[in-house]
Amino acid sequence: MNIKQIVKNSRTYFKSHETLEYKFRKENLNKLRLAINKYEPQLLESLKLDLGKNEHESYMTEIGVVLKELTYNEKRLKKLMKPKRVRTAVTDFPGSSFRYAEPFGVVLIISPWNYPVNLTLSPLIGALTAGNTAIIKPSEFSINTSKVIEEMILDTFEEKYVKVIQGGVETNQELLDQKFDYIFFTGSTNVGKIVMEKASKHLTPISLELGGKSPVIVDKNVNIQVAAKRITFGKYLNSGQTCIAPDYLYVHKDIKEEFISEMNKNIIEFYGEKPLESSIYGSIINQRHFNRLKNYLNDGTSIVGGTIDEENLRIAPTLLDSVEMSSLVMKEEIFGPILPIISYTEIDEVIDFIGSRPKPLALYLFTENAHIEKRVLSECQFGGGCINDTVMHIASEYLPFGGVGESGMGSYHGAKSFETFSHYKSILKKRTWFDLPVRYAPYSPVKKKLIKRFLK
Ligand code: NAD
Repeated sequence: MNIKQIVKNSRTYFKSHETLEYKFRKENLNKLRLAINKYEPQLLESLKLDLGKNEHESYMTEIGVVLKELTYNEKRLKKLMKPKRVRTAVTDFPGSSFRYAEPFGVVLIISPWNYPVNLTLSPLIGALTAGNTAIIKPSEFSINTSKVIEEMILDTFEEKYVKVIQGGVETNQELLDQKFDYIFFTGSTNVGKIVMEKASKHLTPISLELGGKSPVIVDKNVNIQVAAKRITFGKYLNSGQTCIAPDYLYVHKDIKEEFISEMNKNIIEFYGEKPLESSIYGSIINQRHFNRLKNYLNDGTSIVGGTIDEENLRIAPTLLDSVEMSSLVMKEEIFGPILPIISYTEIDEVIDFIGSRPKPLALYLFTENAHIEKRVLSECQFGGGCINDTVMHIASEYLPFGGVGESGMGSYHGAKSFETFSHYKSILKKRTWFDLPVRYAPYSPVKKKLIKRFLK
């Protein structure tokens, strides 16, 4: 079946109104849960093949978070679907007002390769909870996982309801030429721009979950052991191929040496003396990304790590010192296990630098100093982040996740996903037993006086 026909079938099905019913949505969310449970072994296996992910990490960052998202939506489905009552303006007396959620229609979900299960199924949960039909284009790079996802979806849903389309750039472009009712894109900033341009042809609303360089700042007034552990976790998870991984580190010069030694201790504790041989340390997705990352190693001095395994596409957890701010590693999103370290004396330097760059997707600040916390939160613009932790904000269903400026637009997770995939119709329901006459002609001084009283 060609893409045009697939989109047409999906729209025809949406227009049948079947997806609007509470019971339908509830049943299908449950079907998805059963499917994920059934396919868990295959998903774990394919994640190992694509990214060398160990089971613990795969469950924690891919399957588990998706199940948690499902639980949230299943439990609150009725409440999410219920029209939301709001106050009624005095000028609308007698009446009531509410916001009525309706699905957009046919949703296109385009996902990347770094968390192929999570970043495909989490948006899908939002789309289905909100009552849409969906067409999914997973990444061509996480080939094994994309195949399992296709098999799982085919085994679970009718194609007119949810359909997976495999393919690369050309397929994506053909998809983007079609008219969708919503596009949810997760990927790079450059491709995000293409998606937005294509969407503008049909005025299709979009969410762009993009990337960028997310800084981590370590103040001198800090618990060094905890900071180093949490940064090691967030940076080297999935071998640094995480959109919200700390990209570069600003550390106060007074604690730099101690902090580096603590990071080194943690890297050894997590991955052993020889991380390249560790069974729990992942690989880089492909040769192109491996070569790109290898080149960054020349942009500074590797004071920890810096070793590579060409055959298995692995790069050891690396701390890169003496980097030039104008070098590539400080310009491009790293998206790998290399952490450039820059020391600072005054927080103003850091705030100025971050402000001079595109708005990051995430920012992490480690400090016990309330004044510095307040300054960074109010003066730096970024998508979201943590104080005294890294990456964990993404795992909370109570914190909408997304970027700002070049790191994206829109957000999702928890109740926010339902909102993202819904259009809210604002409805004023009037009663007919009384009709306030002031708005109707013929006008009079008395009516004018009343209008002036209402409208000020
Ligand atoms: P990508 O932008 O290269 O690819 C994403 C999708 O777009 C893929 O399905 C791909 O087939 C498609 N695509 C690629 N080139 C295209 C083109 N010219 N026209 C149309 N479609 C095209 O991203 P990626 O390499 O898969 O993922 C890495 C990027 O994604 C990083 O920048 C990372 O920060 C970002 N990311 C963001 C989030 C988030 O939640 N904000 C999560 C994960 C990854």
